[in-house]
Amino acid sequence: MKRREVVKYISMAPLGGVGLTGLAAAQEGMPAGSDQKNFKGRDLLGELGVKVFINAAGTYTSMTASLMRPETLEAIRQTSQHFVMIDELQDKVGERIAALTHAEAAVVTSGAFAALTLGMAGILTGLDPAKAKALPRLEGTGMKSEVICQKGHAMGYNQALTNTGCRIVVVETEDDVRKAINERTAAMHFLNILEDQGQIKADRWVALANEYKIPATIDIAADVPPVSNLYRFNELGYAFVAISGGKAMRGPQSAGLLMGKKDVIAAARLSMFPRGETIGRGMKVNKEEIVGMWVAVEEFIRIDHAALAAKYQKSINMFDAVAKAAGAKTRVFTPTLGNVTPTIDITIDKSVFKKTADEIRHDLMHGGDPAVAVVGGANNLGMTAWCLKDGEDRIVAKRLKEVLEAAKA
Ligand SMILES: *Cc1c(COP(=O)(O)O)cnc(C)c1O
Repeated sequence: MKRREVVKYISMAPLGGVGLTGLAAAQEGMPAGSDQKNFKGRDLLGELGVKVFINAAGTYTSMTASLMRPETLEAIRQTSQHFVMIDELQDKVGERIAALTHAEAAVVTSGAFAALTLGMAGILTGLDPAKAKALPRLEGTGMKSEVICQKGHAMGYNQALTNTGCRIVVVETEDDVRKAINERTAAMHFLNILEDQGQIKADRWVALANEYKIPATIDIAADVPPVSNLYRFNELGYAFVAISGGKAMRGPQSAGLLMGKKDVIAAARLSMFPRGETIGRGMKVNKEEIVGMWVAVEEFIRIDHAALAAKYQKSINMFDAVAKAAGAKTRVFTPTLGNVTPTIDITIDKSVFKKTADEIRHDLMHGGDPAVAVVGGANNLGMTAWCLKDGEDRIVAKRLKEVLEAAKA
């Protein structure tokens, strides 16, 4: 066949080749010609032999973080059926999310990590595309190159910032900050979940930055609920705020939000998909994540968080009763800065258990059906309830009891 004929043949295939089934499939949202009947009932993860488990651990990236709500899935399905211009979609969704989060502007990114990189890129480049193209090379470009950060906040995720080419300058006291500020200072970065590890608190940090007209930036990746944290740092005047979409908000795990000042968000988008020749080109989010994230934020703001927290607390109390009955010491608490959800810490004491915490975690995950994932360190198990589906808490409690009792023998 000549090329023209091939094109014609392909374009006719949905109608001519597959007839009504193909048409129905096209309207239903499957690619025309796909055989849905054959597809239905397939257990894809089972076919792959990939282990599925009950998540009593938490919103861990390596465990795929969270399960999307039906509203988000429907948003994704609906959006997947249309072509749109990605920048127009980002503009419009950004306006909605900005209004919902009390930010001047917002954009959906591929996660909090990408939001940090892109936000910092925006601060460095401003609205100059030539500078965006130069990143991560800063030397000789006239761009600033230093980000000030408290010692207690200098951890792994700062890689997201240094990916832009900038370097981190570590400080401890307010006096250190004043001494560290110079003509190369691009921003002052804060890590909310470790607020208690630094001498300077989030409100003072932004005030200090404002005093020197330096943009203050903040990572609140895992720090909702409370819903008010969606607003608080925008209202405090942070230049940008980065948050994960796929943790407690239950948006797509491959999404996050970059919120903040209008000029910073606009500048960040210069380094973003769909523009090539930028450090952010690979941090792609398509229409499904963009609209899915918007709907996830709406739902997250709408739902009854007090009722949810009470429900999770009940599940944790159930695990607590089981662990105590097995003779373990426990601590039940709700973290205040991030991962704000009822949590239990179960001590695996040698005087009570013959197995180590690692072995007990292994038994929960691999020693029975259904598999249960928990976290923890050398001497403890850590569990939360916010990733459990309805009724799974009883199953987890039963498995925990079996495994802990067996570990004593
Ligand atoms: C999870 C997390 C990130 C990364 O977020 P992603 O949405 O997975 O990119 C960054 N910073 C902190 C503190 C986090 O907890």
